[in-house]
Amino acid sequence: MWTYYPELLAKPVPRYTSYPTAADFGPLEAGSIERAIAGADGDISLYLHIPFCEQICYYCGCNTGASGKRARVEAYLAALHQEIATVASLLPEGARVRRIAFGGGSPNAIEPREFMALVDSLHAHFPLYAPSWSIELDPRSLTAEWGGVIGEAGITRASMGVQTFASHCQKAIGREQPATMIVRSIDRLRAGGVTSLNFDLMYGLPHQTTGDLIDSLDMTRKLGADRVAVFGYAHVPHLVPRQTMIPESTLPGAEARFAMAAEAHSFLTAHGYNAIGFDHFALPHDPMARAVRHGTLQRNFQGFTDDPTVVLIGMGSSAISGFPGLLAQNDKHNGRYRMLSGQGRLSASHGIARSAQDRLRGGVIEALLCRNEAELPPCLLAEVRDRLIPFSQAGLATLTGNRLTILPGGLPYTRVIAALFDSYRQVTQRAFSSAI
Ligand code: SF4
Repeated sequence: MWTYYPELLAKPVPRYTSYPTAADFGPLEAGSIERAIAGADGDISLYLHIPFCEQICYYCGCNTGASGKRARVEAYLAALHQEIATVASLLPEGARVRRIAFGGGSPNAIEPREFMALVDSLHAHFPLYAPSWSIELDPRSLTAEWGGVIGEAGITRASMGVQTFASHCQKAIGREQPATMIVRSIDRLRAGGVTSLNFDLMYGLPHQTTGDLIDSLDMTRKLGADRVAVFGYAHVPHLVPRQTMIPESTLPGAEARFAMAAEAHSFLTAHGYNAIGFDHFALPHDPMARAVRHGTLQRNFQGFTDDPTVVLIGMGSSAISGFPGLLAQNDKHNGRYRMLSGQGRLSASHGIARSAQDRLRGGVIEALLCRNEAELPPCLLAEVRDRLIPFSQAGLATLTGNRLTILPGGLPYTRVIAALFDSYRQVTQRAFSSAI
């Protein structure tokens, strides 16, 4: 069981789906993204962002809008088709697409025929080398027709936003989806060929008790989710105005949240799931668990991944692309994104060129998050040695020579320990969620 040290968790820290993080992005030199794509030789991954949902949940901090306004959706998809053509025209001959992920929002908020048109466009424009296809889905709009489309597109990995099975919590977060709906969705996905199915669950929800969380985890395991992500709800209504629908008084406190995270970890590992970091879990047969065993787990903008490629090209408004030397984000404003993309231009004018220092620090942060240990280069060891003392004194981490190891009790402190290597956090502390 983990021990709660509130003073060590007091500072909000990034999730580190990249280093530097998106909070540290600034204007990019003109032509940066075009040059990076033109130099993307070898295996690459693609990500397509669909910023629409049929219904907007109160807690959601994503860049998404209601899909009911059809003209907006159609104009956005036209721009996305244009961006597919523009990106493909810039790729060099040797590029090979190995992974394609659709995220959002909810990709199944668009029409199935619109989705298949995107799939066809990817086939037509890119050098696809038997890629692995994945998708994020909202069970509330996962129709039988969508089940057919999953099979037709060859999607084998899916992630469903389940969050909780407790109906009183669902009501409080504006996301009502009975268990029968989840079961029906699973049947459709499995019949469509999905072999790796992730459930996103949440703790720290309004009116949620530890018992509610355990019930949801038990249901998840019985329904056979191959992967489970258990995220803490981040209540930041000053940044996400729709969260004002959730009164702060209904939320579990920091210590209760910590206990819930600990219970989730104990429950899932006791029921056959392998822990990935402190909040992700996978059954041993799942590619994510295999990546942990083989030491090949990585972090990218989608979180933990077994994707071995180092180039991820994001398409769609606000999508982020990652290259060894560059992180670049498309325009977040749908209107500007549509205008630029419609002109055959790429909208990623924001991001950061990764320096050698960034790569060094990013490598340590990624190793800590993915493998719970890292070899520290002498310059970083000297910098953090004293700041590690509270963590080693509390039995959360050990430093042996230049090897930093996060101990089992230190798992919930991983992001805080990783943040010690983040030179940008020493300068600025923007709004991040709490570490747990
Ligand atoms: S379905 Fe997902 S992306 Fe859409 S509003 Fe709800 S939480 Fe946000």
